[in-house]
Amino acid sequence: MIPEHAYLIRDDIPLAPYGTSIKGSAERVDTYPVLVTSDSDATHRALADLAAGRQIMLITDDTVLSLHGTSLVSALQGRGISVEFVSVPPGERSKDLSVAVKLLDRLAHSSVGRRDLVVAFGGGVVIETVGWVASVYMRGVPYVNLPTTLLAHVDAALGGKVAVDHPVAKNLIGGFYQPAAVISNVAYLATLDGRQVAAGLAEAVKKAVIASPQLFGFIESNTDELLAKQPQALEYLVRCSSAIKCELIARDPYEQELRRALNFGHTVGHAVETVTGYGPVLHGEAVALGMAVAARISLARGWCTPRAYDRLITVMHRIGLPHSAAQLGVDLDVDAVVGALDKIRLIRDGRLRFVLPLEVGSVVIVDDVTDDEVVRCLAANVRAAAS
Ligand code: NAD
Repeated sequence: MIPEHAYLIRDDIPLAPYGTSIKGSAERVDTYPVLVTSDSDATHRALADLAAGRQIMLITDDTVLSLHGTSLVSALQGRGISVEFVSVPPGERSKDLSVAVKLLDRLAHSSVGRRDLVVAFGGGVVIETVGWVASVYMRGVPYVNLPTTLLAHVDAALGGKVAVDHPVAKNLIGGFYQPAAVISNVAYLATLDGRQVAAGLAEAVKKAVIASPQLFGFIESNTDELLAKQPQALEYLVRCSSAIKCELIARDPYEQELRRALNFGHTVGHAVETVTGYGPVLHGEAVALGMAVAARISLARGWCTPRAYDRLITVMHRIGLPHSAAQLGVDLDVDAVVGALDKIRLIRDGRLRFVLPLEVGSVVIVDDVTDDEVVRCLAANVRAAAS
């Protein structure tokens, strides 16, 4: 006798006669909530609600653990959630396969199961590494992003691009794996240093230039408040940036469309990060310089309006972001940057795409920018029009 609670399946799948084709398919739509708040209690509540009886493996870095880890773990435990935690050394070097393997070992020796929750608590490095680990562990376990840097709040926590670096190239080992939720609590940013805040603002400026004159205006009028980490200003910035990134990603979640405005500043930016050895120049700083170079190329072509160019350079100057090679704080070998661009060109079928701004809120994507234009605009020593 089959018991009542048994799960009965009846099926009669059509077979494939000769002459017919067999097609494999798998469809999946991922949606996830993004909570933006400055309230720590709301953060703990949201995370506890998501866990709802499941165990949490919290993965963070040593700095975030010492600043914010203990209070998060005890708040969750106080709500009856079972939490294990592990931390990795801070910095880009942890975005590495060896670190990911150690995390996989840790998960394998824990009691975390297929339906439990992995929480990535940290900056872009922790978020990308943990996302990749969650994507491969047991063929994918749910993970939640709890960003703690501004760059991760406005960018890395959203969109599901997960990867670790390889000595040959940044983000070489990765994939797409969307989080179960993103909880962005700007209160964590109180302990972030000024240079990291500025680097995070670069990614927000990027989104404003490509997609929102309104957000650009907000950043211009609230630069001081943002740099002073005023919670209300940060919360609004993170809300707007999250909405823009979610919309742009929803249009092309797997980067099948190569002409992505989100790559504004990243062509030269990635080359700068590569030739400076991933470390001395922060990701946001490299992107800032890349945006300035792209804007200069566009201005020289007579495409970018002088007013838009001036607004971009001025806002970056006020934030304290490098907008010329001389301001990077490292010696930049322009020939090496051109060499790195050539490598990127090779990887991308010989086509190097540049996102060039025309106006705030309007860009054009081209693949005919010459090395000469890059060298001229990279070497230009520019002063902001206003300070
Ligand atoms: P990060 O994760 O290395 O954090 C920067 C430093 O800040 C670290 O030393 C960290 O310990 C410290 N820190 C973190 N939170 C802190 C806090 N609240 N208070 C004090 N210190 C704190 O760097 P990042 O800039 O957040 O991320 C950079 C990485 O993100 C790069 O690898 C980049 O490629 C990646 N990224 C990914 C995406 C994506 O869509 N997947 C987008 C942008 C950037």
